[in-house]
Amino acid sequence: MTRIDSRKGAGNLLLRIKYAYWLAVLVITAMATVSFAMLGTMMSGQGRDTAIVMTANEQRELVRDIGARLALDRSGADHARIVRMIEAYSVNHDRLLRDLAAGSDAGVAVIGKTLERAGSAFARSAEAGLGRTSQAGVDAVASGEILGIYDTLVAHFSSRAAANAVTIGAWHRNLFVAMIGMIVLVIVTIFRPLSSAISRNAHELVEARNSMAYAAAHDGLTGLRNRAFLLDHFESMISGAKRRGEQLAVLQIDLDGFKQINDTLGHAAGDHVLVETAERMRQSCRATDLCVRLGGDEFVIVLNAAGDTQDINTVAGRILKRINEPMSYEGATINAGASAGIAVFPVDADTAEDLLVHADLALYDAKKRGGGNFAFFSDELRRELEHRKQLEVDLARAIEAGAFDVHFQPQISLGDGTVAGVEALVRWNHPDRGMVAPNDFIPVAEKIGLMATIGRMVIRKAIARAAEWHREGIEFGRLAVNISGTEVREPDFSEFLFEALAEFGLPPTKLSLEIVESVILDDDKVGIASRLRKIRAAGVHLELDDFGTGYASLSHVNPNEIDRLKIDRRFVQNIDDNGDNTKIVKAITELARGLGISIIAEGAETQEELNQLVAIGCEQVQGYSIAYPMPEAEAGDWLRVHAASKRVVSLDAKRRA
Ligand code: C2E
Ligand code: MG
Ligand code: MG
Repeated sequence: MTRIDSRKGAGNLLLRIKYAYWLAVLVITAMATVSFAMLGTMMSGQGRDTAIVMTANEQRELVRDIGARLALDRSGADHARIVRMIEAYSVNHDRLLRDLAAGSDAGVAVIGKTLERAGSAFARSAEAGLGRTSQAGVDAVASGEILGIYDTLVAHFSSRAAANAVTIGAWHRNLFVAMIGMIVLVIVTIFRPLSSAISRNAHELVEARNSMAYAAAHDGLTGLRNRAFLLDHFESMISGAKRRGEQLAVLQIDLDGFKQINDTLGHAAGDHVLVETAERMRQSCRATDLCVRLGGDEFVIVLNAAGDTQDINTVAGRILKRINEPMSYEGATINAGASAGIAVFPVDADTAEDLLVHADLALYDAKKRGGGNFAFFSDELRRELEHRKQLEVDLARAIEAGAFDVHFQPQISLGDGTVAGVEALVRWNHPDRGMVAPNDFIPVAEKIGLMATIGRMVIRKAIARAAEWHREGIEFGRLAVNISGTEVREPDFSEFLFEALAEFGLPPTKLSLEIVESVILDDDKVGIASRLRKIRAAGVHLELDDFGTGYASLSHVNPNEIDRLKIDRRFVQNIDDNGDNTKIVKAITELARGLGISIIAEGAETQEELNQLVAIGCEQVQGYSIAYPMPEAEAGDWLRVHAASKRVVSLDAKRRA
């Protein structure tokens, strides 16, 4: 805001200066023009006066000369010369009269009249003198009068020229002073503010450029270098290390409990943790090392001249120890905890991109081991990476070849043994590796953006099969399909779903969507909640899969949003002799029952587990103890047989609740 105001102010000032500049130019031009015109007039008057004085002097000489020659020339030998002199006199006389007439001076006009008359009298007397050889000279009165007039003229115009010269000098001086004054005024009022405005603007521009350059290379919150800076400078750091024959270590650091800190203590606490972590990183590194915040709670440290593995081990241990020290925030103690993955140049990779990928993999390895520590990139991780890269290529091919099958696993009601549903589970029939389990390829497909496509293939196949069973009158309860976050986030997901149901002829009431808790917790800006509500309004059921493993708050366990809770397998396994699991399943079952939400337990593998679930009062069950996931034909057969025999659960009556 302040910067905008100051820019606006500088803009106004520049505009004012521009106007003042043109005004000054106009005034100076006007002054110069006026002074030029005035001085021109004065100078031409001065020139005329000087010419009159010169002509009058010349006439005076001629009058004397003519008089003298006429007096001496008795033989008439000088006659022709005297005639020429009289002619010259006459020409000068006329010019003098003209010049006098041009002057507007009243006194001069009177002199002009006298001159005209006396001059003519002299000329006549001289001409008369030419014929009279016996008489000496010209009429003395005539020449005396005319000489007197010339004296007057010379005296008058000489003094006038002198006075004029003084005036012109004064004008010159005044104009000079006025011009200097004007120039000083222009300098003070225009050029000085102009130059300070320009220097202020230049200063602001330099400042703006500096802060833009800073923002482009730094993270706004922590002041560490940012991802762009790292990517710009990493290769040259690698080249430097190569030239010097040194090792370079990349530490990819991630805070273990950052999400919880944000969720439980708020974003201000989260920011505090990030800033403090950044500061600790800075303190534990050398000036030649590079500390970077990639974004979120992800950091990178590039250790220059990192030494051998033992040295890197020591430095990484020291950095993590420092970061992992408890922090205090508004009276509370926060244990953010951090893990790090390390990749070393040139041992693990020799490009910036590979080093970062390898450090990232090592980081996940460190996290898998429980966090709070660091792990180096290893051959095992390299093999995993290659495997994953191959998987990515294979997945793209599998999509083209449509190599995904759907297996179906029945779900039954514990109360009467009837089929409550059937879950569709994707299977990838890999040409070399055989059946690849979903958990082995879904995370990769999610990461490379292929899961939405695979998910839609599976949903269409599952709906097509269930629609067949529906038409054949095979009872399968509801078809449950698993939907990942990326699938439901697709803007046209509901349209796709309704189109598939309509195309194959399966009523929406025969479909159920299994989503994990994190999906409904997802940012509502993308409209997932309203999309799911719309789907549910059409009769499709919605259930929370793997319930108990995510972070869903009880506000999401709401009969207006959810139809069924699916208790995760880890709580069901060994439920018969694990008291804690029994309590958890019991609590979830009671919660669901109280809210009027259906409940199903997944992963019941043994008869004992089944019995325990019945005893607790769990409504439905799915697991190997009932049936394994089966290819569609086999699943169809199972459903038909089951419908005929009805009961598959033998219950221990004594343990029934
Ligand atoms: P889920 O939705 O929780 O599916 C249940 C998983 O438990 C299935 O594994 C199933 O084969 C397995 N299971 C069922 N009963 C038992 C049992 O008694 N004991 C044991 N140990 N396991 C049992 P599966 O097929 O490997 O699927 C794994 C996960 O992959 C699924 O977990 C689901 O989250 C995901 N998934 C599977 N198919 C799809 C799909 O088409 N789309 C999406 N988005 N995810 C899918
Ligand atoms: Mg499921
Ligand atoms: Mg599950």
